[in-house]
Amino acid sequence: MATIFTRIASGEIPSYKVAEDENYYAFLDINPLAKGHTLVIPKHTEDDYIFHLDEATYAGLWAFARKVAIALKEAVPCKRVGVCVLGMEVPHTHIHLVPLQSEGDLNFTNKRVVVTEEENRAIAASILKAYEKI
Ligand code: 5GP
Repeated sequence: MATIFTRIASGEIPSYKVAEDENYYAFLDINPLAKGHTLVIPKHTEDDYIFHLDEATYAGLWAFARKVAIALKEAVPCKRVGVCVLGMEVPHTHIHLVPLQSEGDLNFTNKRVVVTEEENRAIAASILKAYEKI
């Protein structure tokens, strides 16, 4: 059975898309640590452990994540975009990209932020716009 992230990338389950190419997909986390918290996934493998990916998929995932992070920083003002790979909850490889104002913002035990649908739509649209210019 397809993972929830595969179903998101295929459009079966809605998401706030921030970037996409033929092999990778990026979308806003449903329960974000900060506004603009983004997840980056490979579309064609559901392997749940990033270090099990074949070299080309692994390298491509990080190259795509780099472009998304550049677009994210442009769209959501922050000091840095923090990167984290956990995979404790969803068994489909994904990279977290989190806009940071301080080191403590990349702590997954922090309370999550509440973002309205309208804000999420606007954030996703600005990241996508910035991504398309890269
Ligand atoms: P992890 O597997 O890295 O420990 O955590 C999974 C992440 O995926 C969490 O930050 C969680 O909020 C996010 N997440 C789980 N299910 C969904 C979903 O259906 N849609 C979106 N956009 N994010 C999800």
